Amino acid sequence: MSIPSIVEAARALREGSITSVGLARQVLYRIAMVEAQLHAFLTVDTDGLMAGAEEADQAFAEGRDIGPLQGIPIALKDNLTTRNLETTAGSKILSGYVPPYDATVVKRLRQAGALIVGKTNLDEFAMGSSTENSAFGPTRNPWNTDRVPGGSSGGSAAAVAAGMSLGGLGSDTGGSIRQPASLCGVVGVKPTYGTVSRYGLIAFASSLDQIGPITHTVADAVLLLEVIGAPDPLDSTSYPHEMEPVGARLGRGLEGIRVGVASQLGGAEAVEPDVEAAFFQMVSAMERAGATTLEVDLPSTEQGLSAYYLIAPAECSANLARFDGVRYGLRVNGDTTEQMMSRSRADGFGPEVTRRVLLGTFALSAGYHEAFYGQAQKVRTLIREDLARAYRQCDVLVSPTSPTTAFRLGDRTDNPLAMYMSDVLTIPSNLAGHPAANIPIGLDRHDLPIGFQVMAPALEEALMFQVASAVEELAGFDTTVPFDPSHGLRGGVR
Ligand code: GLN
Repeated sequence: MSIPSIVEAARALREGSITSVGLARQVLYRIAMVEAQLHAFLTVDTDGLMAGAEEADQAFAEGRDIGPLQGIPIALKDNLTTRNLETTAGSKILSGYVPPYDATVVKRLRQAGALIVGKTNLDEFAMGSSTENSAFGPTRNPWNTDRVPGGSSGGSAAAVAAGMSLGGLGSDTGGSIRQPASLCGVVGVKPTYGTVSRYGLIAFASSLDQIGPITHTVADAVLLLEVIGAPDPLDSTSYPHEMEPVGARLGRGLEGIRVGVASQLGGAEAVEPDVEAAFFQMVSAMERAGATTLEVDLPSTEQGLSAYYLIAPAECSANLARFDGVRYGLRVNGDTTEQMMSRSRADGFGPEVTRRVLLGTFALSAGYHEAFYGQAQKVRTLIREDLARAYRQCDVLVSPTSPTTAFRLGDRTDNPLAMYMSDVLTIPSNLAGHPAANIPIGLDRHDLPIGFQVMAPALEEALMFQVASAVEELAGFDTTVPFDPSHGLRGGVR
């Protein structure tokens, strides 16, 4: 039996044609079938899920409807704190950490009735593009288990793609929701900076981090975002005003929409031919559906990657200072406090996190601050200006989400720069704080998903979703991973 979308499940639960216990069993069955091959989860909360499902069914039976996600299983990236449920951020240094509180997004999901399936795998502290930087081993792509799922929210993307959860949450600092969504053939959305509370998100780079949904459909992403996006006094960067409901323009089509084609985004030399062909095919389809398109020039985005790899490490070096062997997680003893701290950090952080902390500390140090961090901030301003200029001529921008489809495990682990290139097309939206979405539009010659990115100005989620859902309809892409109940995933034998 196929796994329903969130919107379908919510309707069916209310009609009484399915039960929440049935849904939970379906999800757990999938986990039993394919999780050993994929390793999408760091923790599966079977008991919590089943108990929650029984409660939800009871509530439906009594006519209590607490919210739109009542009885729906959702997976959470393991950098979101969950009360009484281990939260590791994919790092040895946090192994065994059980938070005493829920992140605001988790609280809001629970208030809307959602059930937590478990915590999904990620690159350590969300630093990476393949989930291979997890201290607990990599996740594999359900479309082909020789390939990476992308990252850093690779666990959530793989879990949703493989039907081990109906939806998931990820976090996106430079592309970590959209890129794995692209590589796993699902929808992934990075909202406008500030519209979703970061309280309880284990911080990587605070001026860039945003939490967002990973789902099978655009309508499901809208529903999750409606639940998690709201002002929060616990996050000082939270946007305090009402905004247009994110789903307000769904179904309005593309008539009259001006689409800026950002084919030179980030310098964009390395876009694979199949990705490029699928991208331009979709652009033509959008034209036929009533959109007008124009090429836009975004010259400063070529420096986006370099600026990001100064700003993100700089902020991470400050954020990760709190992991000192005293307050959380791992402690390795030493003769002095300093030795204890340095041993705990040396043992607790993996190589990529160490590289970023060192790089960030250097970029911020006296004498170098202006040359590196200061310059990077100027580039950030230039990118914002480029985008503002583009948005005077068009309503949304489009590009491929990732220059390539899913690459092989191990292919980029020895070459940090090649790995960093995975995010060249997603980083500009983070630097500008703008919303952007991945919509799967097809498969390449190896049957690997290709993603299409729709970007919009700050707070224009409603417009972004209008266009995203039109793209989804034009693509008609089936997000279901080929799954044979007797053999599990066929990817493993490809
Ligand atoms: N891959 C990028 C990095 O390694 C982005 C990660 C993210 O968005 N969390 O920093």
